[in-house]
Parts: sequence; C-alpha cells; structure tokens
Amino acid sequence: MEEINFLVQGSAAEPYKASFIKDGDSLTAFCTCPAGVNGRACKHRIGILNGSGKGIVSENVEDVQKVKTWLPGSEVEEALSAVRKAELLAAAGKKDLNAAKKSLSSEDVENVQKVKTWLPGSAINEAQFAFAKAELLATAVEKNLSAAKKNLSRVMHG
Ligand SMILES: [Zn+2]
Repeated sequence: MEEINFLVQGSAAEPYKASFIKDGDSLTAFCTCPAGVNGRACKHRIGILNGSGKGIVSENVEDVQKVKTWLPGSEVEEALSAVRKAELLAAAGKKDLNAAKKSLSSEDVENVQKVKTWLPGSAINEAQFAFAKAELLATAVEKNLSAAKKNLSRVMHG
C-alpha cells in the first residue's frame, strides 16, 4: 500500500489535506475540505487526478505525476473520465443557452417559461423554441454532471 498526501490551499486559512491511497488496483482518495468531508467529489482531488499542481502548498508537487500513474485501470479513472465528459457537455450547454438567450428579449424569456409549463412547443417562435430547448438541455447536462461527480466520489472511497 502506498499513500501520498498533499496540502492544498483552498478558501479556508488552513490548507486542506488531500490523500491518495493505492492498494493493488484500487485507488482511494480523501480530502478534508467541506465538500470532501461531505462525500462529494471536490475540485482539489479532481485537479490532482487531472495532473494539476494548482493550489498545492506542500513541497511534493511533483508527486502529482505519480498519483496520475495510479489511475490507469482503476475505477476512479473511468468515473473521472465520465466527469470530464459531463463537464464538457455542461459547458457547451451553458454556451448554447447564453447564445439562445441573447437572441431573446426578457419578455420572450418570460413567455418561454410560461409556455413551457402549460403548452410545450406551441405558439412560440423559432428563437424562443431554441432557447427552451437549450435550457432543458443545460438542465439535463447539469444533472448528468452532478450524477457523474457523485459516482466519482463513491468510487474514490473504494
Ligand atoms: Zn477537497
């Protein structure tokens, strides 16, 4: 069994401790930040797993590369790649939503919200429809991202 610990400076005064433990094929990871303590996949561990030394204040920044070599074949690798994909989709969804929003007046946006609740798709113009679609999609991909993160957190704890 091998263990690597990092101190990561987050929003609190005291740095958080992110731990990675390799035991055979299994990789587990813990973090003392509020998200980590509450069983959520946090940016500190995701960052390190992605090979980023950002925020690390302990002197073993180069160990990030070692943790990265622990990934292949682990459950964490799969879950992490699902999170990456979901993040890309979520970012694209937000972009589409913003673009769709820009082509609408605020009154249009309100109308779409109203129409969506009682008569989806009818009596709205193309731009309004595009916005409604983008909004639904953005919501769906956000949900997908949060499910992927939940799963990553689950597999990180072995
Ligand atoms: Zn954390």
